[in-house]
Amino acid sequence: MTRDLFYEGLIEGNTEKLLLVPKSDIHNHSTKGCRRKWLEEKINHKFPQTPERFSGLEGMQEWFSDNIKPYCSGSEGIILRWEGAFAEAKRNHIKRLSMNFGVTEIELVGGMDQFVKLIDYFHQEYCPDTLFEPEITYVSVCDIEKETESIDAYLSKGFFRSIDVCGGEDIKPVEEFIPLYRKAEQYHLIKRMHVGESGSADDVKRAVETLGLDEVHHGIHAAESKEVMKYLTKNNIRLNVCPSSNVMLGYARDYKNHPIKTLYENGVRVTINTDDLFIFDSSIENEYLLLFQAGTLNAEQLNDIRIRGQGCEIEEKTK
Ligand SMILES: [Zn+2]
Repeated sequence: MTRDLFYEGLIEGNTEKLLLVPKSDIHNHSTKGCRRKWLEEKINHKFPQTPERFSGLEGMQEWFSDNIKPYCSGSEGIILRWEGAFAEAKRNHIKRLSMNFGVTEIELVGGMDQFVKLIDYFHQEYCPDTLFEPEITYVSVCDIEKETESIDAYLSKGFFRSIDVCGGEDIKPVEEFIPLYRKAEQYHLIKRMHVGESGSADDVKRAVETLGLDEVHHGIHAAESKEVMKYLTKNNIRLNVCPSSNVMLGYARDYKNHPIKTLYENGVRVTINTDDLFIFDSSIENEYLLLFQAGTLNAEQLNDIRIRGQGCEIEEKTK
């Protein structure tokens, strides 16, 4: 039984067993979604060890630009890293995968048609049985008016399932993103945003209310407010949590005290995800293991999160 295999994997610290168990990864920045080892073998280059902690998002981007990008840049580098992200989905039995893509990358590989062809090919080649839900993402420094005008060209193909804004929460007031999210609504996309990663519980609530978010990427600081946790639970807003990212960027103290515990125990829906697995050098099976070994959540709780993340609560629980 899958559940037993998962429990054994956690208790024995057995990566091979954990890899075999179906999982989801709902928050994954595609260009940083491949395994380091996979890329090292492909380009025959050894990358330096990731520092134990970065100084926030900026520190991470700087490290990435200095240490990784020079060795796999341009469209070729991006395509290779995308391929690696699908190879990882296969290796790790990702049953449900949401990866995000920026319009700059789409243009870099030749525009929407070429991009869709490439991604479909990797999906079919590596993990055709994975439910793949592509996400379009914008950086918070973007020119919102310009992006809103051009978004139809990307969404009208019916390829994307969700929208996201990433790259720093304190750049502009959340209200400014309303036109972009209205467009996403016209295409029936799931509305997500990076919020409550560095920002507060109130920021999470404000973004959900203002933009009508369905889900939140990170949202961990919601754990600091009972009222906001109640609001999220009542409105069935899921938080896509990325433990290693939070610890390594300094947004959570450590694994043991990671806010996912408080969120889960207060009934907030959560998933466990990788964010930038290449950078943090921790793939999805390891995220579960880290939380288990730190005593943050027990095997039953982690299994519950794992099952719900795939959106198949009923089937798996009756097995
Ligand atoms: Zn992210």
